[in-house]
Amino acid sequence: MGGLEKNLVCLQTLGLDEPWTLDSYLQIDGYKAWKRVLAGDFSQAEIIDIVKSSGLRGRGGAGFPTGVKWSFMPRESEVQKYVVCNSDESEPGTCHDRDILRYNPHAIIEGMAIGGFAMGATVGYNYIRGEFMAEPVPRFEAAVAEAYAAGLLGKNIQGSGIDFDLYTFVGAGAYICGEETGLLESLEGKPGRPRFKPPFPAGFGLYGKPTTINNTQSFASVPTIINKGPDWFSQLGPENSGGTLIFSVSGHVNEPGNHELPLGIPFRELIELCGGIRNGNRLKAVIPGGCSVPVMPAAAIEDVNLDYDSLRDAGSALGTGAMIIMDETTCMVSALTRIARFYFAESCGQCTPCREGTGWLYRTLVRIQEGRGTREDIDMLVDVANKIEGHTICAFGDAAAWPVQSFVKHFLHEFEYMVEHGGESIVNERAAAA
Ligand code: SF4
Repeated sequence: MGGLEKNLVCLQTLGLDEPWTLDSYLQIDGYKAWKRVLAGDFSQAEIIDIVKSSGLRGRGGAGFPTGVKWSFMPRESEVQKYVVCNSDESEPGTCHDRDILRYNPHAIIEGMAIGGFAMGATVGYNYIRGEFMAEPVPRFEAAVAEAYAAGLLGKNIQGSGIDFDLYTFVGAGAYICGEETGLLESLEGKPGRPRFKPPFPAGFGLYGKPTTINNTQSFASVPTIINKGPDWFSQLGPENSGGTLIFSVSGHVNEPGNHELPLGIPFRELIELCGGIRNGNRLKAVIPGGCSVPVMPAAAIEDVNLDYDSLRDAGSALGTGAMIIMDETTCMVSALTRIARFYFAESCGQCTPCREGTGWLYRTLVRIQEGRGTREDIDMLVDVANKIEGHTICAFGDAAAWPVQSFVKHFLHEFEYMVEHGGESIVNERAAAA
């Protein structure tokens, strides 16, 4: 990443030996912000104001301003309050939280502790995806043990009068536990089914107590914001999109992987950093925020900057910043079928439009691929998606509908070709002609 490395916020320990250890973290001013909090340098309101003015927005996909979310907590109330880190990273194409857990776990711990202080929460949980048992979970748990041993967590920390205890909870592999109220249900030992809102977690969260849930990358950004100041952070990106984001780039690029870059970077620059499109092929389409956001044809994204507002204005969303790159060899019907199967499998089943609709979408797409589809089936795909969107308890329903609506809108000719040619893909036709 060359000169861009100086802007690393969440992966800043990269380049150090064993960057996940406390020793490495201390080399890059680790726990400096937390120690200032413990020394009484900041009030709770000052921390919240700093996070607000940094422009940090939730990195889990929704992009809600983190400082504003923190301000919703009744921090003066005497009841037990909680902070929860959402490390249930399951959005297809997204793999940045995994790397923060692997390489910079102390930044998450420090960010959670600071957030806990600011919101009056003395207990935190990190809910980590079950599939992360191989490396991220042990590294995070080892970091928590190091922090306790160094006197950075616990009761009356360093004589400050501040308490903060932190626990790890390992999920069981359900995508819907990444939805914050589904996560809370799971954390309470129940099936991870999203709750009706309101009430929102800041009023009725874990065990019915005020709770704030933030994404891993959001918490890991907080120490640097305190150390370098909110202006430094906000000015890394354009207005409304402060800071850096770890873009998870997958699919048809020569060098897929995680790249932490300032928000607002041009899409073309990101593709250059990833070595270009594989085999010199042409770009066909991009899903820019994990598979839950609308797909964009190449022409719609090639000249777009990668930030919240620019992608919204271009017809999609930044989401988790997971860029799924598809070149000209991609069959869009096949790609959508895989996505639809994912939502069909992961629906929690509470809402009829989602439970039944995701099955209809998947089965209709399979019918088209198997050569049994009709023109009416294409219309029905959109009709079913429209009936799911906006009619469910949680945003999963919208996430299942948007790919269908956008794939059919932008690549209708591929669906029609397949219906008219007994399941044959237009991509195979073109390859044969080349
Ligand atoms: Fe469950 Fe789907 Fe309803 Fe969300 S939208 S609560 S995943 S059935």
